[in-house]
Amino acid sequence: MRPSASRPDQSGVPETAAHETAVLTIDLDALAANYLLLRERAAPAECAAVVKADAYGLGMAEAAPVLWRAGCRTFFVATLREAIDLRTILPDAIIYMLNGLLAGTAETLHQWHLRPVLNSADEIREWAAYCTSAGETLACAIHVDSGMNRLGLSAADVEDVREAADLWPALALSLIMSHLACADDQAHSKNADQRARFDHLRAKLPQTLASLANSAGILLGPDYLYDVVRPGVAMYGGHPRRQGDNPFHPVVHLTGRILQIREASPGETVGYGATRTLSRPTRIAVVSAGYADGLFRALSTGDGEHGLTAYLGPHPVPILGRVSMDLISIDVTDVPEALATRGAWVELLGPNVSAHAMALHAGTIDYEILTSLGTRATRRYVGG
Ligand SMILES: *Cc1c(COP(=O)(O)O)cnc(C)c1O
Repeated sequence: MRPSASRPDQSGVPETAAHETAVLTIDLDALAANYLLLRERAAPAECAAVVKADAYGLGMAEAAPVLWRAGCRTFFVATLREAIDLRTILPDAIIYMLNGLLAGTAETLHQWHLRPVLNSADEIREWAAYCTSAGETLACAIHVDSGMNRLGLSAADVEDVREAADLWPALALSLIMSHLACADDQAHSKNADQRARFDHLRAKLPQTLASLANSAGILLGPDYLYDVVRPGVAMYGGHPRRQGDNPFHPVVHLTGRILQIREASPGETVGYGATRTLSRPTRIAVVSAGYADGLFRALSTGDGEHGLTAYLGPHPVPILGRVSMDLISIDVTDVPEALATRGAWVELLGPNVSAHAMALHAGTIDYEILTSLGTRATRRYVGG
């Protein structure tokens, strides 16, 4: 097995070792470019970065240093495990934990210089009590719920804690945040409602930096930017909105190797469940990637269905029948025979096949496509 060069060649096909069956290429230059694009849109607000769930499946260990070098200083993760992992990568970053303070973990957060996003009155009290016992006023954020009913203080909780005068001198409140439920739909009336509610609630709390916008929130315009923005999916090349063009660069490229070409006749069926009956003499390429590589089984196409189109070089090639765990079948009848060969590579995600298009066909969102890419494909990081 010869070690291989790491850049895709002009045709987007990676240079690969003989044994490789699927290759996931992650373009760290595109990641940095997307971060800079978001920062430009958000200025003068600070552009933080959300790197939870292993940087949306792309690899936090590789992504976080690239973002740091692009100038990002504030990071958000979900859990304590992620926060500690990130601390070992970025010793000087500000790290917030969105999922908040679990009972009994305050000392660990303190040791690792992590900041909890306090999501309830109980969490605020526990952090204040820990700060008092440690003899330090430690930084933290407070999340107020502005209408999503997920995490965050309710209006009643806000009233409750604002009156507890002993809490505030004990801790160092460094951020008040909330989260938008419908920012992917620019026209949704809930966006302005949440903004008004956020303003109303934070006016009752000690004054500090404010943060409301995720990726889609940044695109809603200046009213939503406040002091700090928290993009995730757009940095990773996902489409933050439901409609329109995606202004962000693709970061993820997934290619699968053709294992076999076969000829089949009209009337024959393809794959599990015999869901696809061929209506013409068909050349089928069997490609070594399946739902264990993040190609959702919902991408299967039965008779009469128009599914996701993969690409073989410049040629669109539709998926035929069911997606199985390790394999898909594609229709290469209309592709020049010289291209559709055993060992050739098919683009499953990349410049021609966006995560957004895949998500639409699979009945999901870009986020789930990215976080489901799995670990089996050979990972290759380029740029950065
Ligand atoms: C995940 C998350 C984000 C990032 O959202 P994107 O839509 O990926 O930009 C921001 N804020 C909170 C609270 C989150 O949970």
